[in-house]
Amino acid sequence: MIPELSNPSVLMKDPQRVQEILESMMKAGSNTVQVISDFDMTLTRFAYNGKRCPTCHNILDNSKLITNECREKLKELLNTYYPIEIDSARSIEEKLPLMVQWWTKAHELLVQQEIKKDLLAMVVRESDAMLREGYQLFFDHLHEHSIPLLIFSAGIGDILEEVVRQAGVFHSNVKVFSNYMDFDETGVLKAFKGELIHIYNKREGALLNTGHFQELRTRPNVLLLGDSLGDLTMADGVQDMENILKIGFLNDKVEERKQSYLDSYDIVLVKDETLEVPNAIMLYLTGNK
Ligand code: C5P
Ligand code: MG
Repeated sequence: MIPELSNPSVLMKDPQRVQEILESMMKAGSNTVQVISDFDMTLTRFAYNGKRCPTCHNILDNSKLITNECREKLKELLNTYYPIEIDSARSIEEKLPLMVQWWTKAHELLVQQEIKKDLLAMVVRESDAMLREGYQLFFDHLHEHSIPLLIFSAGIGDILEEVVRQAGVFHSNVKVFSNYMDFDETGVLKAFKGELIHIYNKREGALLNTGHFQELRTRPNVLLLGDSLGDLTMADGVQDMENILKIGFLNDKVEERKQSYLDSYDIVLVKDETLEVPNAIMLYLTGNK
């Protein structure tokens, strides 16, 4: 049906079920579809030429807006908590308080750095952040077909928006839920706004934004893209859901995590740095137009 689903990077536990969901969504029409996507390591690349690409947080960690001493501390946090994030031997319940610790400590350190709002664009420009190959088609096609794209990220909203803007694809159909920086009147970072979003409370984040999902209630068919098991709850606020197709990027610790990804995501993309499969699905849903 979709030749790209035979790509070597594609794994599916139940291909028949994937086909049924896709057919049902296609018949309902692309005007009933909404896309909900994670950002870091889902819309952005995990690696390029064998080198890791940065998350929103890493863009700041690696920037000249941070003192060397602070950079060391942030690196220590990353080295402590990232292995926990991707540890398949620990349950989400066990990881959750540790992830809250990571985000809280990192945000405290960032706030101490008196980061200036007007330097963020430069920092993003100088970073190694890269959207996945095929991003142009992905964003442009959704826009052309007026399909809403919600980017739901535990990263940093101000940085994320800048990455998407600099790539020239921050179209009017894109909406972002994320952690936004709060600046004082002189444009210096003083706090983060609102409730913290970390990788395991996206359900709560979704339920705080019922207005958005209420507006999209005529779109009960959801394409969900993520790279963490925490991303699976991003669509929990969707009203009267009819179909959901979950696509998961499995970037790291592939063997240990493969089974749990296959059990939770309908389509698993193993070490696939492109948006080729999501794009093929989108073209199918919009009648290849
Ligand atoms: O956009 P997304 O929800 O994927 O953003 C969360 C990612 O940010 C996590 O997967 C985590 O590895 C990363 N992170 C980071 N530095 C922090 C906190 C989170 O790189 N201080
Ligand atoms: Mg992610």
